[in-house]
Amino acid sequence: MNHLKCLRKLARQKEVELVWVPGHMEIAGNKKIRFKELQELGSRNKLTLAWVPGHKGHKGNEEADRLAREGAGRALIGPEPFCDIAKTHVRASINEWMDDKYREWWRKLPQQRQAKMFIKERSARLTEDLLGQNRKAIRIIVGLLTGHCRLNKHMSLMGLAEEATCRFCSEEEETAVHILCQCEGLARLRFLILGEENPSASSYTKAPLSRLWSLIQRTQLDRVL
Ligand SMILES: [Zn+2]
Repeated sequence: MNHLKCLRKLARQKEVELVWVPGHMEIAGNKKIRFKELQELGSRNKLTLAWVPGHKGHKGNEEADRLAREGAGRALIGPEPFCDIAKTHVRASINEWMDDKYREWWRKLPQQRQAKMFIKERSARLTEDLLGQNRKAIRIIVGLLTGHCRLNKHMSLMGLAEEATCRFCSEEEETAVHILCQCEGLARLRFLILGEENPSASSYTKAPLSRLWSLIQRTQLDRVL
């Protein structure tokens, strides 16, 4: 469909003339049509783009197929060592390897017990989502997800609060996991925002962070954290 859009855009600019073979309005195939290159070529020349159905006995197409097969069967020519791998494949493999290494490092890390409950793996989406928040929201969200925030349990560990109990239920210790996943006093609010009374810790980082921020604001914890 992108190919089709690309060709239509070119046709609108009247830099090229499009010739459609009846019955083949959909542009198929795996090769990307490079819009910029076509545009550059079209600015100096009159181009005619035509879709020729493959394997239909079209003389030129059959000849191109034969030459492609012949070329593919030949030994590679070029500086050694020759690595006939697409750049996208190399990039994807490196990213996959990095993800595996990161996951292993994160799993074996002895610290960050609470952060591991919320963040299971490297996520570009989560990073982008977080950096899209305002500074105050970023500080509070990171504090909650890592446990380093002004909740009673953490403050009492640092000797800055006498009580570690939850301000909402007065029954359990006030930790981020308790507030976000377990506190009975906030069960209804969690259900309203996340659709679950007792969501798992990782569900907060799988969902858009706006939901976590909404929960923080509705509990007014943003005023104390
Ligand atoms: Zn509670």
